[in-house]
Amino acid sequence: MNDNKVFCPQCQNQVVFIRSAFINTCPACGARFSRSDGRLVDDVPGAATAVMGILRVLMWVVVVMVAVAGVGVAVLFVGCAVAMGGF
Ligand SMILES: [Zn+2]
Repeated sequence: MNDNKVFCPQCQNQVVFIRSAFINTCPACGARFSRSDGRLVDDVPGAATAVMGILRVLMWVVVVMVAVAGVGVAVLFVGCAVAMGGF
């Protein structure tokens, strides 16, 4: 039953990795290793998620600004047309 025990190079313990789709996580020290090549994974998923959240907010800000600018141009255009009696 000890087939899943492996040596963790991070904490030097024999541990049973917590398996996920692409990552093995050491339950003793929390080190994460790629399942494809066994290398240590440095990135922090929480930080990546936070960056994605910030990017999403920035994207929405840009969308809203473009929408507001578009409405402003439309209002100006209609205002000029009315002022000049263009109808
Ligand atoms: Zn470990």
